[in-house]
Amino acid sequence: MSYPALYRVFWPPTFSEVRGQDHISTTLKNAILTERLAHAYLFCGPRGTGKTSSAKILAKAVNCLDLQNGEPCNQCANCRAINEDNFLDVLEIDAASNRGIDEIRDLRDKVRFAPSQGKKKVYIIDEVHMLTNEAFNALLKTLEEPPAHVLFILATTEPQKIPLTILSRCQRFDFRKINTSEIANHLADIVQEEGVAISEEALNAIARKAAGGMRDAISVLDQCIAFAGARIELEHVEMVLGTVSEEATAALIDTVIGQDYSRLFVSLNDFVQQGKDIKQILRDCIQYCRQLLLLKVAPKEQLIELSPDSMDKAKQQAQALPVEFLGRMINRLATAEKDLRYSNQPQIVLETAFVDLMIQGTEPAVQAVTEPQKPQRTAQKKEQTATTAKPVQKLVASEELLQQWSEVMNRIKSKSVKLHAFLNEAKPAAFQNGELILRFSHQYKFHYNTVNQEENLRLIAQVVQELTGAPVKVTAELENEEGHIKQELTLADEARRMFGEDVPIEII
Ligand SMILES: [Zn+2]
Repeated sequence: MSYPALYRVFWPPTFSEVRGQDHISTTLKNAILTERLAHAYLFCGPRGTGKTSSAKILAKAVNCLDLQNGEPCNQCANCRAINEDNFLDVLEIDAASNRGIDEIRDLRDKVRFAPSQGKKKVYIIDEVHMLTNEAFNALLKTLEEPPAHVLFILATTEPQKIPLTILSRCQRFDFRKINTSEIANHLADIVQEEGVAISEEALNAIARKAAGGMRDAISVLDQCIAFAGARIELEHVEMVLGTVSEEATAALIDTVIGQDYSRLFVSLNDFVQQGKDIKQILRDCIQYCRQLLLLKVAPKEQLIELSPDSMDKAKQQAQALPVEFLGRMINRLATAEKDLRYSNQPQIVLETAFVDLMIQGTEPAVQAVTEPQKPQRTAQKKEQTATTAKPVQKLVASEELLQQWSEVMNRIKSKSVKLHAFLNEAKPAAFQNGELILRFSHQYKFHYNTVNQEENLRLIAQVVQELTGAPVKVTAELENEEGHIKQELTLADEARRMFGEDVPIEII
């Protein structure tokens, strides 16, 4: 049994059921009611926003035998025939398929003949910008002297590619991207009618991915129903779309923040093994970084599109990352997406984009990152106390702790709101060999001094120990203006940090 595509089943039958384009629907209905229709319309806008649906409705309205307040009745013989694509006087031309040469020539020959079935001949030319020059010229001839019984509806996603001579003879309507909540509402209506259960996260994920296009959203829903049956969850949507979940994207960003190279390669490889498209991985990451940027610069505007489950984690990451870095990240990943076209090694393009970002670090690109210098044993032998000003070490933080950092912060908040507030400015820079290093930028000296008090360090250690189950030492570090750490370390401290507590240390 063949099964009609959902978007065909839910094709809006009237202007008032076209979502998100009220400004256009109202104008067209008025034009029909007052009999002030133009000879040619140009419908511009992103894909799936209702251009073809509106063209069909307009074609029905001008041929309807029982017009209902400017809307087609969908009951009369003409409306029904048009709905069934079985009406001789509504001709659809897809300019994308063969660039329209034969069709436009045919159109020019036949346009003079009166309609055979209805009141008006309607030509709907989809993707009109794809017409050849020759076809445009032929079309222009008919647009210059259109017979009264003809209506042209041209639709395009790229109006800038249409010759001015054509544009000037059309009344233009710009279709908007449909907002996410409007798409979600419509999908909710459809699933209800189809008797399908879908989780809210799954529904919103589809709506967000459609990026303003209703037809795409309905197509994805259709595929999800085919894939998952009568109960759709978020993971089904992710499988169908081949997208990377927000959770997985957030974990990937953590590896960038923590400069955890090995984890990065493993994660990217996992995505590829799961069959995710590399372009899609990049797009999902770009989209996620954009959300972080919005959280950072415009948190109160209604622009953020993240699932509620991802929000806490995203806020925490947005706080940790400078605007400059997020901008750089979006740019670098977008460049990688472009580079994919010229590469037959897409995974390497993906990996190097992230490695580049990690090498530069998340700090504003003021200082070049220098490799941490290995302490020279000969120099150390000479003095018992070494004062070292070392470059910001890109220490690899244990990913587990980074992932749980919001949990650490939550627990600290429940014990001391004040400490939590000061700790907000700290970055967990490293967690290894039982030592957690918290780093403060130079402008947060006051925060550093407060956190660095004995009782506060103890409280943090206690919380981390609760989570990791092992004793931990917490050290706070303050960067100087160049982003370096100045610290007084005994040689034994330095050696313990390098080799761990268990190694017996003997200073000669
Ligand atoms: Zn009708």
